[in-house]
Amino acid sequence: MPITPTKYIWMDGELVEWDKAQIHILTHTLHYGMGVFEGIRAYPTPNGVAIFRLEDHMKRLLASARIFMMDVPYSLEELCEAARAVVRENNLDQGCYLRPLIYLGYGEMGLNPLPCTVNVAVAAWPWGTYLGDDGVANGVRMKISSWRRHDPNAMPTAAKGTGMYINSSLAKVEAIKAGYDEAIMLAPNGNVSECTGENLFILENGTLTTPHIAHAGTLGGITQQTVETIARDLGYEVNYEPLIRTDLYLADEAFLTGTAAEVVPISSVDDRLIGDGRPGPVTTEIQKAYFAAVRGEVTRYESWLDRV
Ligand code: PMP
Repeated sequence: MPITPTKYIWMDGELVEWDKAQIHILTHTLHYGMGVFEGIRAYPTPNGVAIFRLEDHMKRLLASARIFMMDVPYSLEELCEAARAVVRENNLDQGCYLRPLIYLGYGEMGLNPLPCTVNVAVAAWPWGTYLGDDGVANGVRMKISSWRRHDPNAMPTAAKGTGMYINSSLAKVEAIKAGYDEAIMLAPNGNVSECTGENLFILENGTLTTPHIAHAGTLGGITQQTVETIARDLGYEVNYEPLIRTDLYLADEAFLTGTAAEVVPISSVDDRLIGDGRPGPVTTEIQKAYFAAVRGEVTRYESWLDRV
């Protein structure tokens, strides 16, 4: 997905011109992949542009850094303000995608990261639908990947670590080359884990089920939690339970959730249609409620919005 340049990127406390936001080739994170990041969206609302669940994303960013023992020189509030500043100063009134990144800087090499400087950047740019407008409207075709999701004792799956996404990219490329839209990865124990950058839910007999971080090495998704709340408010039962591959094949409905992807119906898994292959009524109801929430159209979800 191409990036549209904006004016400024926040780097270590300053707004730097887009073209000058550069780093040295010997930046530590570039070599060993030990960095942490977030993906956040801001949406236009009736009362101005708002960043969705900003504090929750920045809390997860700091949690990821804590897991990697990165000593972040900014507070939660400073990081939130940096995000507001890039949206404000780039005039991103129509919404955008935000990418905070904490990385190990220039000056040290070798596998002990502890002496490295810790740098922070927050960029933002306008970004369309991640899995395409057609995917959001009509559903996406999924393939179970031959790549397993990380074992949490090999890679800490609770952290959103930059290098960990090699695993996701391998699965994504395999799925695309085979003619599918997106991959579903199984955990090392064979249970369904998640997609390359999204969690997933199935609906069976009116109940929604999604795998939990503890039994499937998933990232604890903020959209997953948002959908859990919205679905319960709509009267659906939501469970965090283990799923196996055939649970997906036999589901009445299925969809994936993520900040970039938003809420996207799954039309098939390994060429088995989910239902009749079209977005089901519960998926559509939850998707609509999600879009209304992020766009500030639902009073009860106002506390999720952070106006810049
Ligand atoms: N799983 C993975 C591996 C991800 O990269 C993401 C995107 N951050 C998600 C799930 C969904 O998380 P969220 O809803 O917080 O964006």
